[in-house]
Amino acid sequence: PRVRDIMNRQVINITEDEEVRVAAKRLLKDEMNHLPVLDRNGALVGIITTYDVSKAVVTDGRLRQVKDIMTRNVIKTTPDEPVDVAAQKLEQNNISALPVVDAANRVVGILSAIDLGKLFGGRR
Ligand code: SAM
Repeated sequence: PRVRDIMNRQVINITEDEEVRVAAKRLLKDEMNHLPVLDRNGALVGIITTYDVSKAVVTDGRLRQVKDIMTRNVIKTTPDEPVDVAAQKLEQNNISALPVVDAANRVVGILSAIDLGKLFGGRR
C-alpha cells in the first residue's frame, strides 16, 4: 500500500505568524498532536506539536509566535510513497506523524502512527 491509501485527508493547519496560544487551542480542540505550519502562500514551512508548545511554556515565555518554536526541518512524505518507507521515517526520527505533500509542497494529508495501525485490522 501507498501513503494515499491510509493518510488522513482532513488536515488541520496553522500559519507561521499565529500566536502559540492559538496553536495550543487548536491542538486541544481537535485532539491533535501535530499541526503542519504553512506560510502565507500555503506552502509547508514547519510543524508544531504539543511537545513544542509545552517546551515553550517552560523555557521562554517570550516565544510568542508559531514560527519561533516550530520545527523547520520537516520530515514529510508523499501520496505515492510506499507505506513501509514512511513507517521507517517515523521510527528512525522518533516522531509519530508525517505531513503528506504534493509537488508544490502543499499539505494534502497527514500520516500518523495511528493510520499505520489501520493496516493491521484496527479501526482506530
Ligand atoms: N513522539 C513525539 C512526537 O512525535 O512529536 C515526541 C518526540 S519528537 C522528537 C518531538 C519533536 O519532533 C518536536 O519538536 C516536533 O516539532 C518534532 N516533529 C514531530 N513530527 C515531525 C516531523 N514530521 N518532522 C520534523 N519534526 C517533527
